[in-house]
Amino acid sequence: MKTKIENIALFDQMNQSLTQTSLLFDETGILDVGEHVNHQDTDHVISGEGLTGVPGLIDSHVHLSMDGNPDPFRERVENLEADDAYKAMRNATKQLESGVVTVRNVGSKYNVDIALRNAIAKGLVDGPRIAASGEPIVMTGGHAHSMAIEADGVDEVRKAARKQLKSGADLLKLMATGGVMTPGVDPNSPQLGEDELRAASVEATHAGKITAAHAQGIDGIKNTIRAGITTVEHGIYLDDEAIEMMLEYGTYLVPTLVAPYNIVEHGLDAGIPEYAVEKSKRVMARHQESFYKAYQAGVKIAAGTDAGTPFNFHGKFVKELELMVDNGMSPGDVLRSATLTAAQAMKIDAQTGSLEVGKACDLLIVEGNPLEDMASLRNVVAVYKEGQCLFNQKESSPSRTT
Ligand SMILES: [Zn+2]
Repeated sequence: MKTKIENIALFDQMNQSLTQTSLLFDETGILDVGEHVNHQDTDHVISGEGLTGVPGLIDSHVHLSMDGNPDPFRERVENLEADDAYKAMRNATKQLESGVVTVRNVGSKYNVDIALRNAIAKGLVDGPRIAASGEPIVMTGGHAHSMAIEADGVDEVRKAARKQLKSGADLLKLMATGGVMTPGVDPNSPQLGEDELRAASVEATHAGKITAAHAQGIDGIKNTIRAGITTVEHGIYLDDEAIEMMLEYGTYLVPTLVAPYNIVEHGLDAGIPEYAVEKSKRVMARHQESFYKAYQAGVKIAAGTDAGTPFNFHGKFVKELELMVDNGMSPGDVLRSATLTAAQAMKIDAQTGSLEVGKACDLLIVEGNPLEDMASLRNVVAVYKEGQCLFNQKESSPSRTT
């Protein structure tokens, strides 16, 4: 069915401005953009008067089978596979209804994210486009080991990488340092070594896939970059040398500023474990400083939330985008990092990330101008994925929006 939306203010990636125009699309993709688009052979014409259209948002770092509970890794041990599957499905719906049309899921126990991606592709359930890593690969006792494959040495990591690729992973997630949410591990300490990370990176490249490494401390960050990993997740303790290396290797940064922010905001009283609160307080200022330095230097930045960590709920991407603005990124660059740059990092920019002829019509329609106020992205009017309207504020029942 051919749909025309006329007189809508569309976000233009090149000029980082809004242009009043018309958009013609169907399920196969965007057919035309411009004032000249006419009504011929159009099945459906919608007025975009007073509305703004941006490319469907892309959150580059989520955990669909985690909810935002105060102590998620404890739940990892207690949950059944089916518990995680139901959660992932509901969280995927929340993402979609908030305008996030694509997510990169970087760690789900039981490969629940891969199964959900398949179910969406088969049309069994609606949901966003999912790039799924399945279970992360970590050293024995490493960060998030309760939801991961433990592997030590090049041979074991290579085997784990091949196993995940065989299971249908779109990317491999690796842990290059300790993290905030696992007791007893330090965010600064390296975990999988450069040779282990490289083994996974090579396997992913051979399979035409990408890699993401959780890397907070500087040694682990440098191991990650040298190993040819596609994206550094968090990148808390970046130094000038690491920033230079990222530019040289073309490594992307996925900062997830909102993850420690939410932990510090809610704190011990909300039931978050003391070790997580203490570590988050320790890293937050440094994290924001690293983000700003990387941005100033021209490192490619893809926006991501780490949704699923404490009080970091699915469907709340805009808070991360606001923090990026608060920490010195221009609103136009923030929108790009949550759309085109993220698509490029995932190597799906031929398909999505901007509203251009030939790409899928992944579209978020809102009231207001996000270039003036990022909060307007919360005023969701409609969400399209591949030319299909999967959420419309007017038609939704109150229970579906909560
Ligand atoms: Zn994460």
